[in-house]
Amino acid sequence: MAIVRLPGLIDPHVHLREPGATHKEDFESGTRAALAGGFTMVLAMPNTQPPLIDSGSLAHAETAAAQKAVCDYGLHLGASRLNVETAAALSERVTGLKIYLDATYGALQVADLGVIREHFGRWPSQRPILCHAEDRLLATVLMLAFLEKRSVHICHVSRRAEIELIRDAKMRGLAVTCEVAPHHLYLSQDNIPRLGNGRSEVRPRLATPDDAKALWENMEFIDCVATDHAPHTLAEKDSDTPPPGFPGLETALPLMFRAVHENRLTLDDLLERMYQAPRRIFQLPQQPDTWIEVDADAEWIIPNSLVSRCGWTPFAGERVFGRVERVFLRGQLVYDQGEFRAAPGFGRNVAPHYRSITSEVQNQ
Ligand SMILES: [Zn+2]
Repeated sequence: MAIVRLPGLIDPHVHLREPGATHKEDFESGTRAALAGGFTMVLAMPNTQPPLIDSGSLAHAETAAAQKAVCDYGLHLGASRLNVETAAALSERVTGLKIYLDATYGALQVADLGVIREHFGRWPSQRPILCHAEDRLLATVLMLAFLEKRSVHICHVSRRAEIELIRDAKMRGLAVTCEVAPHHLYLSQDNIPRLGNGRSEVRPRLATPDDAKALWENMEFIDCVATDHAPHTLAEKDSDTPPPGFPGLETALPLMFRAVHENRLTLDDLLERMYQAPRRIFQLPQQPDTWIEVDADAEWIIPNSLVSRCGWTPFAGERVFGRVERVFLRGQLVYDQGEFRAAPGFGRNVAPHYRSITSEVQNQ
């Protein structure tokens, strides 16, 4: 058994469902799933109930996370039609501004070009903006980033035309970064009959095998592998109105380790996309005395259910490599072969505002 010691991984895109849908996941179960998957820091999306769009809703989520998280975390704020000024004022309390141009509803849907441009103009230029912008909307976002002279991070790229647009924008010097989810690398429309309609619902949708091939071919232009961990219960997925989303925190590392095993990636390529680049793009702090121990040779079959409260995974039955054995966070053993050793609340908020408070405390 070859144990390798790697840095704690960082996932910049997870949905931990709190507040509002804690029967699917909450800050404790979601951050436990993160540790089991080798992640010591996760950045959570704002499409909760209520959505994180102002100081009050943000404070509610901050309190829940501070009480329950077992790994370090940040919260992304949501852009709405009405919160351009409010959002900018809150930028130091969060790890980024998420703008949903696609496939959402309620307060977080921002469909108006003028409002989107105002967010691009007002959000501090040194703080990250993340966009869900598929197909033609991707071109809109790239144009706004160019005109407003700022960077933009594109979430869960899934199609050939999109990754090729990002590739060409990067080659012309645009400050665009992007992430791809393991399910868009490993699953396609061909898997829908096996998974079933409800269990294959995800946004962006599973694309064609040629789209997945294009992602692998353009790996050098993919900055991050992010899970888009989006748990829903099996009862919900198998209902007449299945919500879109897959859990992903516990399967990302073994799936990407499989790519290393198959010589499609080097271990350095993996660490760049699951540790260095997320840290750089989202300006995240070092986690001192933090590492994961992975049995690099372990070959295993993903079971039907893992740690996440949702109780299923679309990757059940997949043969993968590399198993997380132990996780150390800030010098403490927090995960040991299936056992969780950190008390709820051990995780820290990594947004700049909380970081400065933490370092002040340490300096006293
Ligand atoms: Zn998402």
